[in-house]
Amino acid sequence: MLLMTDKLRCEAIIFDFDGTLADSMPFLESIGVLVMMGFHGVSKDEAASRYKMTTGLPYEHQIKLNFPDHEQNEAAIEEFERMKIERIFNQELFPDAREVLAEVRRRGFSVFVSSSTFKPTITEYFRRLGLLDSFDGILGYRPGFEKGADHFKHVAKEYGIPLEDIVFIGDSLKDYERSKGFCRFIALEGMFTEADFRQAGHNGHVVSSLKDVPKIVEKK
Ligand SMILES: [Mg+2]
Repeated sequence: MLLMTDKLRCEAIIFDFDGTLADSMPFLESIGVLVMMGFHGVSKDEAASRYKMTTGLPYEHQIKLNFPDHEQNEAAIEEFERMKIERIFNQELFPDAREVLAEVRRRGFSVFVSSSTFKPTITEYFRRLGLLDSFDGILGYRPGFEKGADHFKHVAKEYGIPLEDIVFIGDSLKDYERSKGFCRFIALEGMFTEADFRQAGHNGHVVSSLKDVPKIVEKK
């Protein structure tokens, strides 16, 4: 069994955004489900289950995976992004986020945020909070540059940090899956429980709060 005292020695920490730093998942899930119900005619339960199975991916992928070739897909994606940009800046950081970002910074880690949300949205979010200086880099979604392999390799190449010295923290099963074979992963409970992550094959650290992260990582 893994203990808090089993430290992850690393140089860089990459935080997922939605559901990890920002408490935005209840909002995103609610609009994601509404859009699937409205454009694809599925029940609320079915939409919720389809949303959850694909969460962590860009919404356009969530839609296209769930409803391949559906004629309403483009309209649905557009509506989701419209609803998201209206209220994403009202979504608060988790209570520990500020302090955790400051601590890992102080201890000399390189710090990144990696997200399936578009980069300008994340940049604006942290600019409004006065937290842009918390990060060495902000990695957002654009087609062909996704959270996962693309972002991790970008950090390795552009910042000269070997993949084995990178730790990624995320709240979705997709985050775990996408870290596999690239970097180490800390699972944050929220939308998914420790049991969910274990069942998906994650045998590393699972935390229930962001404030446990600094206790686990050690600067290499
Ligand atoms: Mg997330």
